[in-house]
Amino acid sequence: MSKQYVFTLFACFFSISCFSEPLQFSLHKIESKNSGPTLLVIGGIQGDEPGGFTAASMLVTSYKVTKGNVWVVPNLNFESIIRRSRGVHGDMNRKFSSLSENDPEFQQVQKIKKIILDQQVDIILNLHDGSGFYKKEYINKMHNPERWGQSIIIDQKKIDIAEYGELKKIADKVQQHINSHLKNKKKYFYVKNTNTKNGNVQMEKTLTYFAIKNNRPAFAVEASKSFLTDERTYYHLLAVEGFMKEMGITYNRGFNLTMNDVSRKIGHNLKISMYNNRINLNVEKARRSLNYIPLKRDASLQYKKNNPLIAVVGNQESLKIRYGNRHVTSLKPQYFDYDYELNSIKIQVDGIEKDINIGEEINVKNNFRVLAGSDYRVNIIGYAKHGTVNENGLLIKKKQIKPRFSIDRDEKIFRVELYKGKKFSGMILVNFIEPQQSQPISMNKTNSQKLSVSNL
Ligand SMILES: [Zn+2]
Repeated sequence: MSKQYVFTLFACFFSISCFSEPLQFSLHKIESKNSGPTLLVIGGIQGDEPGGFTAASMLVTSYKVTKGNVWVVPNLNFESIIRRSRGVHGDMNRKFSSLSENDPEFQQVQKIKKIILDQQVDIILNLHDGSGFYKKEYINKMHNPERWGQSIIIDQKKIDIAEYGELKKIADKVQQHINSHLKNKKKYFYVKNTNTKNGNVQMEKTLTYFAIKNNRPAFAVEASKSFLTDERTYYHLLAVEGFMKEMGITYNRGFNLTMNDVSRKIGHNLKISMYNNRINLNVEKARRSLNYIPLKRDASLQYKKNNPLIAVVGNQESLKIRYGNRHVTSLKPQYFDYDYELNSIKIQVDGIEKDINIGEEINVKNNFRVLAGSDYRVNIIGYAKHGTVNENGLLIKKKQIKPRFSIDRDEKIFRVELYKGKKFSGMILVNFIEPQQSQPISMNKTNSQKLSVSNL
């Protein structure tokens, strides 16, 4: 299995305008050793449909494929997702039949078309959140043939290819799979055929019809906007698993596919690291803003993230961390030259001396003591004792740190920063766990691997 992470890099600096350049989507290949078909799942073609892109991102963060492959583009219209807009440059899902080279999304559309046409891809899914509830017959304003929610969309009954060409039959099977998991009939899925080639001018411009015209099986899945994001995400995952079942793709997922577990997973475990792990932030429950973050002077912003829906946007004075449509936190930076010599330091954690890598998050029950070399100055953000400028060697208890300086709203996670002269050498996070608690929130192996993927 390999997961490909593409990290964002702002290649320009000292220019506010470069921060408004479009963010790029990422392709994540979740592949298995056992050969089998490849499903391509696309989320976020419209930036205000979080059910689709959240489900797609969860495939990346929480699924392992054991037979066949799943390719995921969870953030196709990433800029619009981050700015919570259907499309900051118009509706991207109307740009697939013809598009001016001057369109700001021209390159992105070309890139996704190439992935759609990749010989390895067998089926393409485009995940949407749609209005109301699709029904074959008119029932009322929200339940009728013009609505989109709770449906699997096909452009036509079939295409003439050897495998997966029977679009209607496949969609029917997936519909059955989804509905078999739903207790409430009001939430059932149905198959909607847009009959695109018979003069459906709007649908001719879409991503799925581009695929169909090129003889590639493609479907759209629509979860109803009448539901909250968590519930829409749950339906999308049921649909994606229905397609995987039809294709014989097998997988493990890191949670139970129930509404509650999906809810718990969304927004869980959000981390970013900056400048080769010199700064590491656990932003799952971050405060609305974090002050005096020591960013690198005269350098472009460099960061890695463990979730494809995270982005850092803004300018030199103020940066915002976003997760999909959500604001996570603002960073008020302070700029420093960096010292890259320090890779690890000794810290006494509850009386036991350990080697801790720069950028790590450590769990502390009662107290800790940083034992850095005498060249280094240690600044524990929020440590209250009057008159100290260097906390190197001091025994530190939680009650000695002002809670309002924590990174998180739970007031448990604090920054320990190291400086050599005027240079910033790196940060370590201290997570005060309850003494009786045995399973603290910490970075598990999978995530630290994700964070250590090639540095741009
Ligand atoms: Zn849509």
